Amino acid sequence: MKIKKALTLSLLSIILLTQANAKEKIYKLKLATTWGSSAVPLINASKNLASYVEKMSNGRLLIRVDSANKHKSPFGVFDMVKAGSYDMAHTSSYFYKGKDINMMPFTTMPFALTAPELNAWFYHAGGLDLMKKVYSKHGILAYPGGNTGVQMGGWFKEEIKTLDDLKGLKMRIPGFAGEIMTKLGVLVTNIAPGDLYTSLERGTIDALEWVGPGMDIKMGFHKVANYYYTGWHEPGPDTQFYINKKKFNKLPKDLQMILEVAMKASSSDMYTYNYHLSGLAWSKMKKDYPSIQIKSFSKEIVKELKKENQKLITKIKSKNPLFNEIITSQENYLKQVRPWTIISDYLYIKENKLSKIQK
Ligand code: CA
Repeated sequence: MKIKKALTLSLLSIILLTQANAKEKIYKLKLATTWGSSAVPLINASKNLASYVEKMSNGRLLIRVDSANKHKSPFGVFDMVKAGSYDMAHTSSYFYKGKDINMMPFTTMPFALTAPELNAWFYHAGGLDLMKKVYSKHGILAYPGGNTGVQMGGWFKEEIKTLDDLKGLKMRIPGFAGEIMTKLGVLVTNIAPGDLYTSLERGTIDALEWVGPGMDIKMGFHKVANYYYTGWHEPGPDTQFYINKKKFNKLPKDLQMILEVAMKASSSDMYTYNYHLSGLAWSKMKKDYPSIQIKSFSKEIVKELKKENQKLITKIKSKNPLFNEIITSQENYLKQVRPWTIISDYLYIKENKLSKIQK
């Protein structure tokens, strides 16, 4: 009887040990970012993700983060995840509009959804499904990866009062917004980030857009341009996490869930952190350079920007049913959600001004 009991116990412990060993399998993923190692807070999204999954999985899921300084291919990360040479990436969807125009609206569109509105669209109004539809043919799963919040319209050395002031103006403004500005007579140039400050200082360009105070302050643009225009073109640009679909499917179900929850958490962290950094940076800029003036484009300019934006969108929509489906979904959502944004945040701020801070 004793022998039988001892045998049963040892068998049981072998089974338990085997199960424990099976559970201890460690999964390793390599993630490439579009950003350099010092691009705070963009780079933080991936670092937080790696730290969260490691802790939540008790070390069973490890993510190695390689910044662009290491892999040297900031805009190659889409292809790398597609090909499987990297398992994951942190980047922004609109960089790949040349490969697939349908990727553009998952970052931001001019005059469209703000960060909270875009997030609500992603998670509750079909945005994630549409993103899945676009990315699945590339063998990639894409997830929201953190929003910068509304971006500023840019730094201008001279005040822009009329449409004529834009004609011949040399400005760095990339992507879709650059195409719209071109229609208004702006000479859009592409300059490497490292050369932007000198170009603005020496007058090679008259204006540029970057992000917002939190990221602009390190670039020093406020030292050489007096007019800081409010945003229109990137009302809530999101970044994205990519994961190779086959690699994701090979993960056990619990690690898949841990990864998805951690992406959501680090995405939310990035938005919050950039909000915080922008508040700090704007206070400092205003104090150190009191000559900086906040301006908004005139009604006449905004009307023209909206007209050209609509023309370009209509043209792409007519050639591309899926683009039409995504933009229509965003437009309908904007109509549905914006009245709430107006009677909540917008009117709260407008009607309860902090007298010494707001004009
Ligand atoms: Ca920008």
